[in-house]
Amino acid sequence: MTKKLHFLALFLLTSVAVFAQDKEQIIQSIMSEAKENSQLEPLAHELLDVIDPRLVGTPQMKNAHDWAVAKYKSWEIPAENQQWGTWKGWERGITHIDMVSPRVVSIEGRQLAWSPSTSKNGVTAEVILLPEASDSLAFAKMMSSVKGKFVMISQYQPTGRPDENWEEFATDSSFTKMKAERENISNAWDARIEKTGYTSRTLAQGLEKAGAAGIITSYWSRGFGVNKVFGASTKKIPTVDISLEDYGMLFRMTENGDQPELKITAESKDLGEVSTFNTIARLEGTEKPDEYVILSAHFDSWDGATGATDNGTGTLVMMEAMRILKKIYPNPKRTILVGHWGSEEEGLNGSRAFVKDHPEIVEGVQALFNQDNGTGRVVRISGSGFRDAYDYLGKWLYDVPEEITSGIETNFPGTPARGGSDYASFVAAGAPAFSLSSLSWDYGTYTWHTNRDTYDKIVFDDVRSNVMLTAILAYLASEDPEKTSRVKSELPMSRRENEQMQWPESKDAERHGGFEKE
Ligand SMILES: [Zn+2]
Repeated sequence: MTKKLHFLALFLLTSVAVFAQDKEQIIQSIMSEAKENSQLEPLAHELLDVIDPRLVGTPQMKNAHDWAVAKYKSWEIPAENQQWGTWKGWERGITHIDMVSPRVVSIEGRQLAWSPSTSKNGVTAEVILLPEASDSLAFAKMMSSVKGKFVMISQYQPTGRPDENWEEFATDSSFTKMKAERENISNAWDARIEKTGYTSRTLAQGLEKAGAAGIITSYWSRGFGVNKVFGASTKKIPTVDISLEDYGMLFRMTENGDQPELKITAESKDLGEVSTFNTIARLEGTEKPDEYVILSAHFDSWDGATGATDNGTGTLVMMEAMRILKKIYPNPKRTILVGHWGSEEEGLNGSRAFVKDHPEIVEGVQALFNQDNGTGRVVRISGSGFRDAYDYLGKWLYDVPEEITSGIETNFPGTPARGGSDYASFVAAGAPAFSLSSLSWDYGTYTWHTNRDTYDKIVFDDVRSNVMLTAILAYLASEDPEKTSRVKSELPMSRRENEQMQWPESKDAERHGGFEKE
């Protein structure tokens, strides 16, 4: 290197150091790192295509925790998996469903989470509808008819088209007629279940006791080709969810006496009791290490698909924000901690356990930012019911570039969340915790807990915008000369109960989940 160049390099380095003091400059650096050196796509690929769904208690969930720790370590950010409980261990195997009579066709469907395994060769049986009885006594007498049969327990859907599609194309009268028909079917099916004497929660187990070969459900999510996929309650026989299209066909065939037969192979492994974790990583505070800015997103998912938007995208936002902060703002004033919580889906369990196990951290929370409602850019932030939230959150947001904040509506002081996602665990404990709430992108219908929550639904530019917002807010919250106020606002009257709303209470985590209660 020539002397001249050497001088230039030294000059550049010093100027970076000087500028690094400057708020504007740091914000700009965060923005350009996020835009020009984004790691979102490769992270999404590794997490969602390779590791796959992150159901509590599965080996894939554990693989995801280990992957996140390794990723943080590769960025030289200290990270660890903290155990907080145990869960029923289970691993999804092959699901394959075919109609084998009166003709052969493969059926679109999958076993529900925690479904008991069939043998490798599967089970072949006739399909019947839930028997219709006049009351629970009559139903009990009819129970022998389910022996050795697959029993369909979900209602028939007269249309697989979403309502928006009808609104666009149907005549008013046919749309009205369809809705009335659907409501009648729905009411009749609810009555049919009620007359069994079971609830929709206990019905599958009742049928299992009576000797059914398997349970067939179809939980349509009111969009084209989309079903919601949750967990099974049976102990020995498989429970599968079948697409609206194939379920409708089987239902019509059954009703018309065509006696369809299915072959269901639904393999899974019962893995006993396994440990459950939160992944925690941190950038140690240099001036106020006992005060915390927390980046928060649950790590687990349901397993009907890969959990790309629930909560793969929230996870990616927090990981990428941490990577960028480490690079641009490696010595924060306050400690910046990221929590990738386990088992949010079964009741905010990872975050509730963390709040209980780390009161000193909860005490030191400067601000927590949680993201958990899909891939969209953030459009709503509420003050969570903290009286002075506007003073600090409003001030920080003012410093975030307008290209990010122009679409954000704020609501101060707002009201405290009672659930919904992990920030609620912290709000209940009195810590200033906020939800970065996303634009819908049809989250509720198309991706949330569905069989279509996959990589292709991610809108990466929106996620990138959320990365910038989160990293900048974390930086500003860390630098703020003041500790944030956690004074609670006076809550409004509840419209429903006509009494003063109360601040939500902290709840305990389920620390031994998925097993029968004694
Ligand atoms: Zn979620």
